[in-house]
Amino acid sequence: MKIFFVSSEVVPFAKTGGLADVAGALPKAIFRIGHDIRIFMPLYKKIDREKWGLKLVVSGIQLDLGNIKEDVDVYEARMPETNLVVYFVDNAHFKDRDELYCLGGKDYPDNCEAFLTFCKAAIPFLEKINWRPDIVHCNDWQSAPLVLYLKEKRKADPSWARCATVYSIHNMAYQGNFVKEKFSLLGLPQDVFASLEFYGQLSFTKAGVVCADVINTVSPTYAKEIQTKEYGCGMEDLLTKRSKDVYGILNGVDYEIWNPATDQNLVKRYSANTLSLKAQNKLALQKEQGLEVSENIPLIGIVSRLDVQKGFDILGEAMEEIMRQGCQMVLLGTGDPKYHELFEKLGKKYPKQLEVNLAFDAALAERIYAGSDLFLIPSCYEPCGLGQLISFKYGTIPIVRKTGGLADTVFNFDVERGEGNGFVFEKYTADALFNSVKRALEAFKNKGAWKNLQEKVMSYDYSWSASAKKYISLYMKALNKVI
Ligand code: ADP
Repeated sequence: MKIFFVSSEVVPFAKTGGLADVAGALPKAIFRIGHDIRIFMPLYKKIDREKWGLKLVVSGIQLDLGNIKEDVDVYEARMPETNLVVYFVDNAHFKDRDELYCLGGKDYPDNCEAFLTFCKAAIPFLEKINWRPDIVHCNDWQSAPLVLYLKEKRKADPSWARCATVYSIHNMAYQGNFVKEKFSLLGLPQDVFASLEFYGQLSFTKAGVVCADVINTVSPTYAKEIQTKEYGCGMEDLLTKRSKDVYGILNGVDYEIWNPATDQNLVKRYSANTLSLKAQNKLALQKEQGLEVSENIPLIGIVSRLDVQKGFDILGEAMEEIMRQGCQMVLLGTGDPKYHELFEKLGKKYPKQLEVNLAFDAALAERIYAGSDLFLIPSCYEPCGLGQLISFKYGTIPIVRKTGGLADTVFNFDVERGEGNGFVFEKYTADALFNSVKRALEAFKNKGAWKNLQEKVMSYDYSWSASAKKYISLYMKALNKVI
């Protein structure tokens, strides 16, 4: 099968969150099964052309965005240590920005133009390289307009009629909504407007939801949740109408990156058989973070975008009680200035127990996964969540709110029965969060049971191979719709 995988971020080239992890790992797993899958992503300013060995493949694609002319070149590189092809879309909008979508909490004003250019360049590019995919797999709002362009193209050009589309929703809250006047930039007939119109605005996500042959999201629970008012962010009725075409496939983890036995960023590598060595990572983390160095003080890690979605409001409220328990916490995150301020303040209030790192730092993230006893994800919603799956691999026990992919993967630990694999709370309140932390800290005292729990979670297999096979069947379903 020929698959064109379209994503606005891909590990190791550019990342803001889980989408990049997925886009960096799922295509590799599909490629290994033997399919011809190629990735298409923007060439951001921060991507180092020399380091990744980018080569020009197509130059001088000219696009009309309304009255604006956009020039696009496409470069090519290989995913490190594989033959998997990655195409990079070079255009002024991406060259001009230091980050991917926003800076200091503010969206770039040309996001609509940038990602429309990205999407609009895809079909002419594929025609130039004379490569006609069976499947175009778009991910999140940044690539959703391509689903619409393909739908129109299929009608107009029979040579594209059998190209099926899959649209994956990694986070329903990010919809790519813009003022309706931007519709003219698409260069499509007026009757297409209805496929994008969303409460008087233009919504890229709506185009994906309405036009894709198959819709997918990143966990079974989130696939159901987004069809409800509580989690659908206004798209619930559209999704419910298409309910038969909505699937949920749990994300995997790339164990070539996330593996304590091979992780180059750890002071001491370890596996389930050498679990006692994990403690050296904890001691080193405490030392580098300026906390008291002691194996017996429970250490809670957090690595997260600092966004309202991630539960920082209730965590802020619960912090005093949590700190009163005498545990330590290391937070790594960046995002909303409101939470920067809140946690900076808390860090100053509890200098001996809490260290706050307001940054994006992949190496520190790995040291936190390895050096923590517990990993906290108090999200108000969570499409899949990778933190809990990564934590399992590092023998770090998750504390989560029961929502989305967290509800599919984390279950309350019962020391008597030896069941469960973490600590779960249901109500989105500071009290419920605190109670689950308290249960976790209590369980941590029972060294024998804790070690068994760690060994159990480290033995899980959340590698991409199982999920990749599910994506292949999903692609088959999409293909069946166009044959
Ligand atoms: P989301 O995509 O909503 O941000 P996920 O749990 O799906 O959440 O994925 C988050 C990914 O981003 C994980 O790999 C996590 O380790 C990483 N991450 C988040 N914030 C940071 C940060 N400040 N520094 C390094 N890695 C981060």
